[in-house]
Formats: sequence, C-alpha cells, structure tokens
Amino acid sequence: AGTGKFFVGGNWKCNGTKDSIAKLVGDLNGAKLEDDVEIIVAPPFVYISQVKDTLTAPIQISAQNSWSGKGGAFTGEISAEQLKDTGCEWVILGHSERRHVIGETNEFIGKKAAYALSQNLKVIACVGEKLEEREAGKTFNVCFEQLKAFADAVPSWDNIVIAYEPVWAIGTGKVATPLQAQEVHAVIRGWMGKNVSSEAAKAVRIIYGGSVNGANCEELAKKEDIDGFLVGGASLKGPEFATICNSVT
Ligand code: PEP
Repeated sequence: AGTGKFFVGGNWKCNGTKDSIAKLVGDLNGAKLEDDVEIIVAPPFVYISQVKDTLTAPIQISAQNSWSGKGGAFTGEISAEQLKDTGCEWVILGHSERRHVIGETNEFIGKKAAYALSQNLKVIACVGEKLEEREAGKTFNVCFEQLKAFADAVPSWDNIVIAYEPVWAIGTGKVATPLQAQEVHAVIRGWMGKNVSSEAAKAVRIIYGGSVNGANCEELAKKEDIDGFLVGGASLKGPEFATICNSVT
C-alpha cells in the first residue's frame, strides 16, 4: 500500500433482502475495524436508508450508480441530489457490469462523474480490461481510454478513488496476482502524472478489485501502488469483509 489512507469498498451489487442486510449490518457493527482505514459499503439503492439508519460502525455509504445530471423526468434513475439526501457520500461509477452488461459508454460515465462531484459526492471511478483485451496486449490502452474519459469530464481528482478491476477477475474467483495488479496500478499512476498532474498522481488512491477475499488480501495489500480494494462477493460476509479492511496494518 502507498501513503494515502487505505481504502476498502464493499460493493453489494443487486444482492440482499431487508433481513440479510440487517444481519450483515449487525456483523459490521460488531466487527473490529482498524482506525486508519477508510471504509465504504454500497448497498442497493432501496436499502440505503435502512443501512444508513442502522450502521454504527465507522463506515461511509456509497451508491452503485447515479444519474448523469439533475433529477427530473428520468424514469428509473436516481439523482446525485437524492443520494446526498439519503446520506450517501460516495458513488461507484464505471463498474464493469454497468459498462459491459448495461452498455454504458466512457463518455456517459465521465458525465456522471462530473455531475456527482458537482453535487459533492465522491467518486469511485472503475477501469479495467476484458480478458480478450489483456490477451491482445491492450490492457494499458483500455485503461488509458477509460481514464481519459474521466479526466476530460472532471475538474479535479481530489474526490476520486480509482478502482482497477480487470473484468476477467470480477466474480470469477480468478484474482490478479499481486504483480499483475501492481504493474497496472503503477502504469495508471504514471498516466495520471503525465496527463493530470504529478500532485494528483501522488495523491490519488488506486484500489484493486477482482475476487479479493480474506485469504488473498494481505499479499495484494503489500504492493506499493495498491491503496485498497473494491470487494464484491466477499463484502457480503461481514467477518471476511472486516478481515479485508484490516489487511494493511
Ligand atoms: C466488483 O464487482 O467490484 C468485484 C470486485 O467483485 P468480486 O469481488 O466479487 O470479484
């Protein structure tokens, strides 16, 4: 891990019921979490208020998506203003499931990021290559294109955490090796230095996502450019998520 505060996000995706979320929040409230780690959880929209009202652990709340502008006649969307109103401080944007299952484009995601930041939401900006892109040697270029779309849209990176999430590692049980992840994280930091500023490159936290669990987190957290994790499956289990949060101590 680098010098910034270690950051761990739990992305609950489209999982949970009122009961299972009450149990998960109870487990998190009872867990011992290190002080110097910034932790967020991202429940499905409909459970954000339940989590906000019951979570006593030092954990912030994130949304998993937000609309690209001011709310209004956009059926089925949730605005950044509404997320702030319900107590969210963060939003995950550009997750690979939104890119590749729902079909969101780089430009649309950039617009969402700019609007979320304008409403004082902080952004977890996800980038990452698909398996065929990695095999074709395009990993860096795919990440650069996705980063550029964010960079073109946002006025500052102060309130952004970058999540590098190779698509082939998400939900597959196939984790990138610490070396593979570190390589891309360092390249992303280099890109930030060249294309944004050396200050932003130094300050931005770059977290890794893709089948992180209680057993592999410690080795990954040792790498100098891995500043935390975005966790899917394992974030649904309170004790294991706590282990991941405490992996850099
Ligand atoms: C994710 O969806 O952000 C993710 C990393 O999922 P998993 O940990 O389940 O691979």
